[in-house]
Amino acid sequence: GLTTGIVGLPNVGKSTLFNAITQAGAESANYPFCTIDPNVGVVDVPDERLERLAEMVNPQRIVPTSVQFVDIAGLVKGASKGEGLGNKFLAHIREVDAIIHLVRCFEDENITHVSGKVDPASDIETINLELVLADLETVEKRLDRVARQKKSGDKLAIAEYEILTKVQEALAEGRPARSVGLTEEEKFIIKSLNLLTMKKMLYAANVSEQDVAHPEKNPHVQTVKEIAMSEGADIVTVSAQVEAEIAELDEEERKLFLAELGLETSGLDRLIAAAYRLLGLITYFTAGEKEVRAWTIREGTKAPQAAGVIHSDFERGFIRAEVVGYQDLMAAGSLVQAREKGLLRLEGKDYVVQDGDIITFRFAV
Ligand code: GDP
Repeated sequence: GLTTGIVGLPNVGKSTLFNAITQAGAESANYPFCTIDPNVGVVDVPDERLERLAEMVNPQRIVPTSVQFVDIAGLVKGASKGEGLGNKFLAHIREVDAIIHLVRCFEDENITHVSGKVDPASDIETINLELVLADLETVEKRLDRVARQKKSGDKLAIAEYEILTKVQEALAEGRPARSVGLTEEEKFIIKSLNLLTMKKMLYAANVSEQDVAHPEKNPHVQTVKEIAMSEGADIVTVSAQVEAEIAELDEEERKLFLAELGLETSGLDRLIAAAYRLLGLITYFTAGEKEVRAWTIREGTKAPQAAGVIHSDFERGFIRAEVVGYQDLMAAGSLVQAREKGLLRLEGKDYVVQDGDIITFRFAV
């Protein structure tokens, strides 16, 4: 599944948000590792389509797809030099698919800010600089090695050296590796370095309950927005405190509470949606009497690889996929009728799975 890491300076609201996430959490029976690692929380991806499908099929089980959040505490000035939790924390970030950078935009005299005042631009710079410095160290170490391999005329080493030099230049100027504009092939060559600033990132502005309905009125949010725009990054506003309150409510109460605040969806739902967008993810469904289930894949994934998300045997033994689009199925009223109307398509190994597809895979073991 998709794993996102929440980073931010101390006292910006990470634990508050993270606790809300674990409370809202998906049924832990499906994710036993969550109880093992207290820093990992899993939430269901809300999806109306899954509910409509379940109404149609009446399965024994409904299984939504999920997103994992990892609380990455301990990022402070000097982390790249080993201060705070230092390298231990950086190692956690290497494992995530995307980074959510939580920025404090709420004022509260009772809650100290590490640098004395609420200052999102400075906070963002501090965090980004630590990540850049950590990467710079990784890249320079690697460059040393590749420089030696290059001497023997190793083609791959020569290519890697050139790529790393470009990345090093950007990092030395304080810019993230993702700003270099490497091609997919170049990215692949340096993939194993797992550079932190190569990961996709989005900003989450943590605002107070009063600001949550109209975050644009908060000047700190504007600051974050401008920084995000200049980097081509996405920004989501949340109120960690509101999320914590919502997490305690049942679904009915939650809707009422959100409406009172002037919100349609919870911050958590918006974060999940943004993470999906950020990573170019889509959802397809399987629907049987036993189980109606949502699965997450990257946009552009072909049928066999999509099947592989369910089980590697499905990918290896892939024969074909029976596919019906979500709208077609809803219009037909049932899978049987969709088949009768010829809306069920047989697709081969080159079929690119579309968001909302309902698929039955045929495979040989
Ligand atoms: P962390 O160090 O980033 O994990 O921050 P915490 O989640 O521990 O939050 C630090 C303090 O800020 C706690 O006392 C929270 O209750 C408080 N806090 C978090 N979010 C908000 C918010 O939206 N408004 C206000 N007033 N306080 C908040």
